Amino acid sequence: MMICKHFLIEPTKEQEEKLFYTLYLCRKLYNYSLDQRIKHYKEYGKGLTYEEQQNMLPKYKKEHPEYKTVQSQILQDVLRRLDRAYKNFFDKRAKYPKFKDRYHYTSITLPQCEAKRNFGKEGYVYIKNIGHIKIKAHRNFDPTKVKTINIKYHAGKWYINLSIEVEEEKEKTVIRKKAIGIDKGINSIAATSDGELYSNPRWLQKSEKKLKKAQRQLSRKKKGSKNREKQKKRLAKLHEKVANQRRDYLHKISYNIVKHNDIICVEDLQVKNMMKNHKLAKSIANAGWGMLDAFLEYKAEREGKIFIKVNPAYTSQRCSGCGRIVEKDLSVRVHKCECGLEIDRDVNAAINVLYEGLRQLGITA
Ligand SMILES: [Zn+2]
Repeated sequence: MMICKHFLIEPTKEQEEKLFYTLYLCRKLYNYSLDQRIKHYKEYGKGLTYEEQQNMLPKYKKEHPEYKTVQSQILQDVLRRLDRAYKNFFDKRAKYPKFKDRYHYTSITLPQCEAKRNFGKEGYVYIKNIGHIKIKAHRNFDPTKVKTINIKYHAGKWYINLSIEVEEEKEKTVIRKKAIGIDKGINSIAATSDGELYSNPRWLQKSEKKLKKAQRQLSRKKKGSKNREKQKKRLAKLHEKVANQRRDYLHKISYNIVKHNDIICVEDLQVKNMMKNHKLAKSIANAGWGMLDAFLEYKAEREGKIFIKVNPAYTSQRCSGCGRIVEKDLSVRVHKCECGLEIDRDVNAAINVLYEGLRQLGITA
């Protein structure tokens, strides 16, 4: 079984240039291959396979000599990613593959690690054409067990993600401990892929109730009256108190999550907001979702951990056990699937967020 380990790496300026250029070339190839598949389908009524595209690769490289600077294995992985994107689409797990811009093509994968070659120098990872890149952590893995190397650019930093072969026993605990997905719900503030639900604590609910009451009282006071001014002041104080309480609570949650995990995956709220209706948008604001993300992000960054935002499409409808789409509206609290899985709907979503995050990091489960 495979587990994943992640380290910050520190490429030199020159290496970083090369990495960016490699990303650019890989993305160009990805988009070219996608275009090729679309055109082929239009012309012949059937798509291209991975094998067919791989066979075209030598000709493409001849026509584009700049690709000499990228290992063939890395380029083959580009085509494999596209093939996976199509498979996910055909299996109804994702939308039709899209052309990628530089914000959505952020990693390269070396699918076959060679221990001596790639990890021969202590404290470095060697990538052909790029050089020995410094790993910013003590190496606590066995290089001979590393299967694939993935290098990812995220939020101004570079990471190396290794998939490592381990015995089955260890695998579960490591993955569980290291990576977490978080779904920001409506009934609870957050649900995690570990099955934890962070609900709105009762004292906070109480304060919020008080706040609402004070608001009602204010509307009953006569405009311009002294009492109204007094009530206004009281209300402002209450507002501040509730805001503080909520912030403290979110600090506590985010501290806990970051402390116990190395990769934190959350939904991209910008996308999520766009998908939802107005009523929901209001409760989003209430629950302080954006604030929780912000706290998670800066704490993760401070601790050298990975924080990643994923596309929330399908995360609540898809079964985290088997991949089926199980449609349910917001009132349905439990995810129940034909495959036998029956869990809290937000926890199911959180597990999907985790999977999507790992996939984006190039750690395919
Ligand atoms: Zn299922």
